[in-house]
Amino acid sequence: MTKFIFITGGVVSSLGKGIVSSSIASLLALCKYKVRIRKLDPYLNIDPGTMNPSQHGEVFVTDDGAETDMDLGHYERFTGIISKKSDNITTGKIYSEVLKKERKGDYLGSTVQVIPHVTDEIKKFIKRDLNKEDFVICEIGGTVGDIESLPFLEAIRQLRNELGKSKTLFIHLTLVPFLSSAHEFKTKPTQHSVKELLGLGIQPDLLLCRTERKFDKEAKSKISLFCNISLDSVILVENALTIYEVPLMLNKQGLLKELFNHFNLPSKKKINLKLWEDFLKKYYQLKRTVSVAIVGKYTNLSESYKSLNEALFHSGIYNNTKVEIKWVDSKKIENLKDCEVILKECNGILVPGGFGKDGTLGKINAIKISKKLKIPFLGICFGMQLAILESISNLKGYKNASSTEFGKTSFPVISMIHEWKKNKKTFIHDTSNLGGSMRLGSYTALLKKGSMVNSIYKKNKINERHRHRYEVNYGYKNEIEMSGVVLSGISPDGNLVEIIERNDHPWFLGVQFHPELKSTPFKPHPIFNSFIKALLNKETK
Ligand code: GLN
Repeated sequence: MTKFIFITGGVVSSLGKGIVSSSIASLLALCKYKVRIRKLDPYLNIDPGTMNPSQHGEVFVTDDGAETDMDLGHYERFTGIISKKSDNITTGKIYSEVLKKERKGDYLGSTVQVIPHVTDEIKKFIKRDLNKEDFVICEIGGTVGDIESLPFLEAIRQLRNELGKSKTLFIHLTLVPFLSSAHEFKTKPTQHSVKELLGLGIQPDLLLCRTERKFDKEAKSKISLFCNISLDSVILVENALTIYEVPLMLNKQGLLKELFNHFNLPSKKKINLKLWEDFLKKYYQLKRTVSVAIVGKYTNLSESYKSLNEALFHSGIYNNTKVEIKWVDSKKIENLKDCEVILKECNGILVPGGFGKDGTLGKINAIKISKKLKIPFLGICFGMQLAILESISNLKGYKNASSTEFGKTSFPVISMIHEWKKNKKTFIHDTSNLGGSMRLGSYTALLKKGSMVNSIYKKNKINERHRHRYEVNYGYKNEIEMSGVVLSGISPDGNLVEIIERNDHPWFLGVQFHPELKSTPFKPHPIFNSFIKALLNKETK
């Protein structure tokens, strides 16, 4: 029967619960157990799709088209296990489910309450859509003590009661700060956090302590004593050079042994850690460095482009290269000369996904400079759409070519499908249909034989993940091609442009999808592998 591991966080936020959950999942998966990882988010939004990435970080998209919390990205990267819609739930979703049932009369006149109705719904989610998994790891978002997470903590307390200790495990991640003035590690915040959990009826079985550096046995014993946990179940999570060190770090301290002990599983289970060891060995010996300018709007926070960051890192390692990212705020390069001064120093230029007209001028400038200086260019989603607009607007008479995302235009080269008329050029501006009109999740594209992208993938047919509302208006196919753009990836029905490239440039690629969402340390994405390789060529020139 499936065993459930619940991971909570205490003291402060941003301790890396997602990384720890992913690392544990990775270790279990490497022991050949079947694992699922789920995220329970206490906020009221139905999903993070409409949340500002600079506040909440990137929106991660699954193959089955769910807009989810970015922790699901970590889960996939660490384990290669493909997340599903059913792996992320929010308070908003739970409540809307409960209220729907209340309106239908499903509660047969009883008073609808947080306990048991909301908690029942949470428990149902935790156990739903499983297929003989050995382990389900559930990360509870937020910090213990938050009002929002109370129903989730209550639900997992009930589950322990229902399923028993041998089927459930509570892991609590806390902070053990070092006070330099006192020259001491402080265990009090951890004690308080565990006390808070105890007050809710949850005694953690394992404590993971985030710490700047290794702390002594004394501090460990103190935590063990005050928190009612065996010494071996207090595990340190020290600062790491890279998040990918965490699985080995946890394994070294015997986390699996503790876990298997708890579940009464054979502790001699073989684990092959070679993949992680090889990956880290390469990471410690990177030979070269390249720089990539990422020109975007949310550049103040690299969390907004988490998967992109990671994908570049993975492909860097694949190429034995350190990738230095230079975040360029597109609003600061609206003057073409300034733009050139800033970007000419970089080995590559990347315009990532984005929304809205704001800041597009700088992104278009970046595309112009990549063409002028022949700097390798990768345009992702919005970046591809802008590359097409930049190109076509150089044609005589097409200066005003635009996207309907930016308002009224007589040349809707980028527009929503329902805005295309029969000849695909007639245009009705329609903003009434923004909600729920996104193309989300995995779609197939057919690659043009002999194209650059064909040789990158070494395939004729690919599947990649999408998250966008607007499309290239196929009615402008001739003009787009006339402007020097090669349409090298098309949807199977032949109507949607998925990939573009240029023959007058050493490495220029635009993709309508988000390749970064599928890159993992052990399977870096071919597009990024090729991009970094192109930057290395540029570096040696
Ligand atoms: N804003 C564009 C669209 O909706 C691009 C979206 C994106 O880059 N993810 O089509």
